[in-house]
Amino acid sequence: MNQIPEIEKKILKFWQKENIFAKSIKLRQNKPFFSFYDGPPFASGLPHHGNILASTIKDTVLRYWGMKGYQVSWRVGWDCHGLPVENMIEGELGLKSKKDIEKFGIEKFNQACRKAVFRCQADWEKTLRRLARWSDYSDAYATLDNDYIESVWWVFKQLWDSGLVYQDYRVTPYCPRCGTPLSNFELNQPGAYQDVEDESVYIKFSLKGQKDTYLLVWTTTPWTLAANTAIAVGSDFTYIKVKFNNEYYILAKERLEVLAKEGKYEIIEELKGKDLAGQEYQPLYPMKLDKPGYRVVPADFVSVEDGTGLVHIAPTFGEEDMELGKQENLPGIVTVDEEGKMVKGLKIPGEGKFVKKADQDIKTDLKKRGLLFKEEKIVHAYPHCWRCETPLLYYPINSWYIAVTKFKKELVANNQKIRWVPGHLKQGRFGKWLEGARDWSVSRNRYWGAPIPIWQCQECEKQKAIGSIKELGQTIKDLHRPTIDKVILKCSCGGQMKRISEVFDCWFESGSMPYGQWHYPFQNKKLVEKTFPADFIAEGIDQTRGWFYTLHVLATALTLKNLGLGKNQPSFKNVIVNGLILGEDGKKLSKRLKNYTPPEIIFEQYGADALRYFLLTSTPMGEDYIVSEKRIAETFRRTMLTFWNSFTFLETYTDKECLAPKSIQPGNILDKWIVSRFNTLNQEVIDWMDKYELTKAARLFDDFLDDFSNWYIRRSRRRFQKPANRQEKKQAEQILSFVLLNLAKLAAPFLPFLTEEIYQKLEKGQSVHLADYPKPNKKLIDKKLEEKMSEVRQIAAIVLAQRAKAGLKVRQPLNQLTINNKQIAADKELVNLIQEEVNIKKVVFGKEIKLDTKLTAELKAAGVIRDLIRLVQGMRKDGDLKPGDKIYLRYSTSLTLNKLIQKQTPEIKKEVSAAQIENGTKRKEPFLAEKEVELDGQKIWLGIKKK
Ligand SMILES: [Zn+2]
Ligand SMILES: [Zn+2]
Repeated sequence: MNQIPEIEKKILKFWQKENIFAKSIKLRQNKPFFSFYDGPPFASGLPHHGNILASTIKDTVLRYWGMKGYQVSWRVGWDCHGLPVENMIEGELGLKSKKDIEKFGIEKFNQACRKAVFRCQADWEKTLRRLARWSDYSDAYATLDNDYIESVWWVFKQLWDSGLVYQDYRVTPYCPRCGTPLSNFELNQPGAYQDVEDESVYIKFSLKGQKDTYLLVWTTTPWTLAANTAIAVGSDFTYIKVKFNNEYYILAKERLEVLAKEGKYEIIEELKGKDLAGQEYQPLYPMKLDKPGYRVVPADFVSVEDGTGLVHIAPTFGEEDMELGKQENLPGIVTVDEEGKMVKGLKIPGEGKFVKKADQDIKTDLKKRGLLFKEEKIVHAYPHCWRCETPLLYYPINSWYIAVTKFKKELVANNQKIRWVPGHLKQGRFGKWLEGARDWSVSRNRYWGAPIPIWQCQECEKQKAIGSIKELGQTIKDLHRPTIDKVILKCSCGGQMKRISEVFDCWFESGSMPYGQWHYPFQNKKLVEKTFPADFIAEGIDQTRGWFYTLHVLATALTLKNLGLGKNQPSFKNVIVNGLILGEDGKKLSKRLKNYTPPEIIFEQYGADALRYFLLTSTPMGEDYIVSEKRIAETFRRTMLTFWNSFTFLETYTDKECLAPKSIQPGNILDKWIVSRFNTLNQEVIDWMDKYELTKAARLFDDFLDDFSNWYIRRSRRRFQKPANRQEKKQAEQILSFVLLNLAKLAAPFLPFLTEEIYQKLEKGQSVHLADYPKPNKKLIDKKLEEKMSEVRQIAAIVLAQRAKAGLKVRQPLNQLTINNKQIAADKELVNLIQEEVNIKKVVFGKEIKLDTKLTAELKAAGVIRDLIRLVQGMRKDGDLKPGDKIYLRYSTSLTLNKLIQKQTPEIKKEVSAAQIENGTKRKEPFLAEKEVELDGQKIWLGIKKK
């Protein structure tokens, strides 16, 4: 289809052979730093369009700062730990639970994880290289390296020493399949909340000492009812006791509709919530309690928006419930095991079953006992594990927390130092999230992760955090479980200290990346301190509650005091956030639905530059992308081909090699205009890029290319094809090659391949990526001229539209055009441009633009001659003639047409480069090209030969 993908492959080989990347680093090694942090992807799955988008953004920004003369950090890294990998391996090995893993052996399991982590690394590298994402792939960091883990330990130890780490028994979101708690922000990962249909139930709790009187309670989780130890009321709410079918029910006055739907009731009395507080009731499933329970308690979270205004409290299975339990000294009962199954032997229906399954057994039992008042189906958003999609439980567990709430003020203040693109995220999505920040549960009861470095004494229970391998006092080959679990430390009491079993939340590890990637502070201390915080990072919008957040939390915590990284620092100064990538149908990319064209095919058909430019320009930053092959093809034609054809035009009409000159002398008004226009573009691209407004910068190239190709080159054709003299052509060549060369440099970060090809033909330098970024020459900017030219283009467009409407083709000359812009009408050069473009004899000034569409005999004749010229030019092409070749033209036609042609012979000769034009009969000798057509309603035969 086209040669551009082939050119790209050739350039890839050239970069590799000539070590251009390494040369670019060497060239800028003593320059000021431009610091970048790469958010590590998982190399266990294949790269997709989302990764390509983030990579394009990163690469474009880094190339830009490199060409501006900065020493750029190009390092990439791999995320290796955590549930995503563990889940994958469990699936492959057929392990269904933690018990299965432990039976299989943690060592073997972790080995399998380690092996799997890099299985797609080669594919990643191939795709990223094809995209022209620059990096030294052999120097990538990986979160599983001992060095990286040691830095994670160091980070944790600093927080420990600052009193920001604590352990708590708390109800947290918990995945019963993975057997581990999750952090509150993992509940905000895409897809975590899913709409599910549940059965909600109204349950009757019998009040003690009042015959046939029940508290009506509503719940969507029947499996928690066996753990009920209290019922909460709002102290100041009004409650009603009603008579209904010979029984008495109590519920909030505002929730009477619950009864109204079921039948008639009679109001017996009104009570306040505080009157109910302290009353005791009969539990549904009586348990042995260690302190008094089964009573009504007041709570301020009770609402009357749904339910009955009486809230079932199970302190072990709700965050608010546990808080209330602490306040009211309520007992807690654990009726569910760590795998989410109902504990056996407690005489609860559905014992041994997964809680969601046990729901049914419990309902059946309560129905049988007449304690189920009614059931209702509801659809609600319920949280699921972001890795394995199991419904999460709120479950009581001992877990380690970072006291994020203690430095919330600093988190918010440090966010003010960050430039967000798009800007609304700063106070919006991210800012709001920081204001609501909660303590972060960082421990995971899992296997494949950086182990948490806390050792605990088996005798006196003293705990100690370790911040380096050295502190272990022994050499250790692998810091992972189970090796690390065998390291025993000595307590000051003489007892043995063993490591706690948990590993880190993998988000804690990726948030430690600024330090871990350089093994800080054990190595590269100066480098890290000099390049912290990062000048720039970029990832997808989902990371506002993922990586962006954990980077920010850890940086803020580490700079509460100055440990060498400065005081009160964010982790990054500028961040570009892209939206999600969707398929052609606006839905998530799906291999199964085949709703997108895979990157490899795009690369083959249109090349990487076209995909890069499409991603950089098609969508405002932060909004969702639709990857559509049709639109990529459009980008290819509009941008890539326009740029490439502008260059091939120069190549076609240049006699020798087309090296660009070092400086230029603009000749006519078009030259002055395009030089001004280029310098304006140069200024604007830098202005936007310095503000990290990538889309705004990238889009400028399309507008420029339109001006350049569809106006400058088109209106300069005559100077290349039929120059008045050599000097005129040479000057036009110089301007064209100069603009093309500098445009190649300016666009190099965006279109690294095409610009390289053009650069190498126009400059004797080795690679455009080793060149300095062009600086605008403000002296050559003439804003007035640019405005006037834009007006001229508008006038031309209007006239062309009018011609089309009147059915007058452009080749037909017209007499007069009136325009209402005095300045333009008075400028001979501008008037000439309009005349040539729209084929008009005269342009005059008047009140409006007006086109004289009257055809005189003379104009008509001129139109016929233009048609003839075009015919002969077409025949020259058919005969494969070069622009300089002279021809002999013979024709045979009617008397009238012959007369017309003879009158215009000199003009025709000039236009079609004919040495001789002859009227005669059609001969049988061979012609290079022949044609018999109708011209102005009369037959004409034409034949040409090379002279
Ligand atoms: Zn899970
Ligand atoms: Zn001890």
